[in-house]
Amino acid sequence: MSSLIALVTRLSEAAENNWLTALSAAMPRETIRSIRALSTEELDLVDIAIVANPDPVDLERLPNLKWVHSLWAGVERLVLELKGFSHPIVRLVDPDLARTMAEAVLAWTLYLSRDMPAYGMQQRQSLWRQLPYRSAPDTRVGLLGLGALGCAAARQLQLAGFVVSGWSRTEKQIDGVETYFGRAGLDAMLKTSDIVVCLLPLTAETTGLLGASEFALLPANAGFINFGRGRIVKTGDLVAALDAGVVQHAVLDVFETEPLDEQSPLWQHPGVTVLPHISAPTNPPTAAKIVADRVCAFRANGIQPAGIDFNRGY
Ligand code: NAP
Repeated sequence: MSSLIALVTRLSEAAENNWLTALSAAMPRETIRSIRALSTEELDLVDIAIVANPDPVDLERLPNLKWVHSLWAGVERLVLELKGFSHPIVRLVDPDLARTMAEAVLAWTLYLSRDMPAYGMQQRQSLWRQLPYRSAPDTRVGLLGLGALGCAAARQLQLAGFVVSGWSRTEKQIDGVETYFGRAGLDAMLKTSDIVVCLLPLTAETTGLLGASEFALLPANAGFINFGRGRIVKTGDLVAALDAGVVQHAVLDVFETEPLDEQSPLWQHPGVTVLPHISAPTNPPTAAKIVADRVCAFRANGIQPAGIDFNRGY
C-alpha cells in the first residue's frame, strides 16, 4: 500500500473536516485522513503529517513520519510542545495571509492616524469637535518584525503614503524603509515611531520585550498595534502607559490568554480596542495549495523541506 498523509489537530471534527476537504481538493492524488480515523496498520504508512495544534502524543504514534507541515504561521506552541522533535516542521508562509495581514495593518493604522477612537468617543458624548488632521506622510509607522508579514505590511503602508521603518533580529535592507536591528536599533526606532505595529513571533527573546521603559521611549500621542502575540507585551505596563497618556491608544488582536478573560480591564479601557484574534486568519484553500506544493516537491525529489529553527524559536 502507498504512503498516507495524516491530519493531526486538536480542532473540532467539523473544523478538521473542512481542512480535509480543502487539502484533498489541493492534492487529489494523495490520501489524507484524520489521525483519529487511522488503524494501527495505517499509522505505519504515514510519512507526512499536516498539523494544527497537534497533541505531541499523536505524532509519536507515527513511526515512519518524515516531516510535518503546520497549517499556522505562528509556531511558538510547536516549539514549546515538541522540544527535541527530530523531524523538520515546516510553517505556513502564505502570500494570501501576508496580504490579509498587510490589509489589517493598514486598516488599523488609519484607524489610529485618522483619530477614529477619539471621534467614536466624541459621538457617544454628542460632541461636534474637529481634531487636527495628521496626514500619512506626516505619520511615522515602526514595524517590529520584518518577516513575511512585516515586509508585506511595509509595502502596503508605503503605498498609502506613511513613513515606514522596521526592526528585525538580523540586519535588513528594504527599499524605502529605514531599518533597525538589535537592542540599540529597537530603542532608536521606538523614539521615532508615531505608531508601532508588532508583527514579531513569540520566542524566549521577545517574551516581555515591550514594557514600561520601551513605551516611555515613544513620542507623544503614540499609538500601538499588537498583531504578533500577547506575551510580547507586559500588559500591566501597557495599561499603565495608557493611563498615564504615554500611549494614546492600543489596538490589541492578541492576548496573554485567549479568549480574553471577561474580567480583563482591557475590555472596558477607553484607550484600548480589543479584537478577537482576527487580523489575519488562515485561508484554507490558499493554505492547502501551499502545503500541496511542498508535498508535491517532496514526492518528486524525496528531499525533506527545511523546518523551523527550534533554537531561534521561529
Ligand atoms: P517571520 O517571517 O518568521 O518573521 C519574523 C520577524 O521577526 C523577522 O523579521 C525576525 O527577524 C523578527 N524577529 C524575531 N525575533 C526577533 C528578535 N528577538 N528581535 C528582533 N526581531 C526579531 O514571521 P511572520 O510570518 O512575519 O509572522 C510573524 C508573527 O505574526 C507569527 O510568528 C505569529 O505570531 C504572528 N501572526 C499573527 C496572526 C494574527 O492573526 N494575529 C496571524 C499570523 C501570524 P529576522 O528577519 O532577522 O529573522
